[in-house]
Amino acid sequence: MSAIFFYAMVNNFYFCTLINYRAILMKENIDKQLQSRNIKATAMRQLVLQVLTEQKTTICLAELEQKFYKADKSTLYRTLKTFEENKLIHSIDDGTGSVKYALCRETCDCHPDDLHVHFTCTVCMKTYCLTDIPVPKINLPVKFQLESVNMVVKGVCSNC
Ligand SMILES: [Zn+2]
Ligand SMILES: [Zn+2]
Ligand SMILES: [Zn+2]
Repeated sequence: MSAIFFYAMVNNFYFCTLINYRAILMKENIDKQLQSRNIKATAMRQLVLQVLTEQKTTICLAELEQKFYKADKSTLYRTLKTFEENKLIHSIDDGTGSVKYALCRETCDCHPDDLHVHFTCTVCMKTYCLTDIPVPKINLPVKFQLESVNMVVKGVCSNC
């Protein structure tokens, strides 16, 4: 066996191990996230959460449907509903007519006090979670009860 071949083999082995290791870590992380929200891990749920984790901005239903075109649409929709009910994700109505989804912070309870501002770019039409900007406190008239706040700011994002 030539030294170069051997080196290539070792290198390749090392590389593969590294990738497998990363995949295992990622899967563990996904399962941990599901567990923390009392959601039973199924293959579909793991895959959907994986996609949601990879997003830099929010993702709309149509984009998710494209990624899971082989899966049954109602299964995908039910998965999202379960995630939302268990506060793993939140949905955003940004006024564009297509609902967007994003992961919640670990500590999020989707209570009005947990809510943040969303930003919709009028150029690329992407919607961002501005998690560092909480929605302002709203003092409602007496006997009015606050349930939820949907605050969407529009403008041009830093990528456009
Ligand atoms: Zn939330
Ligand atoms: Zn933009
Ligand atoms: Zn958000």
